[in-house]
Amino acid sequence: MNSKQEVKKLAFSCPVCARITDREISKLKEGATIVCEFCGLKLNLHGHMLESVNAQIADLTDEKTIADEPA
Ligand SMILES: [Zn+2]
Repeated sequence: MNSKQEVKKLAFSCPVCARITDREISKLKEGATIVCEFCGLKLNLHGHMLESVNAQIADLTDEKTIADEPA
């Protein structure tokens, strides 16, 4: 059914203003900077925030094979 590559998105809630934005999961990697478009927060993705994001990504992708990424 899905012959095209699907862009997976994660609903990310800002820890400061709590607004939710959809983020492409391919961009949610360690060291990535997430900028909240509502309050302007710049968040560096690491530590427990990264773990939380990875857990949510795993929930989104658990039924599918994660696409191979080019090395
Ligand atoms: Zn915010």
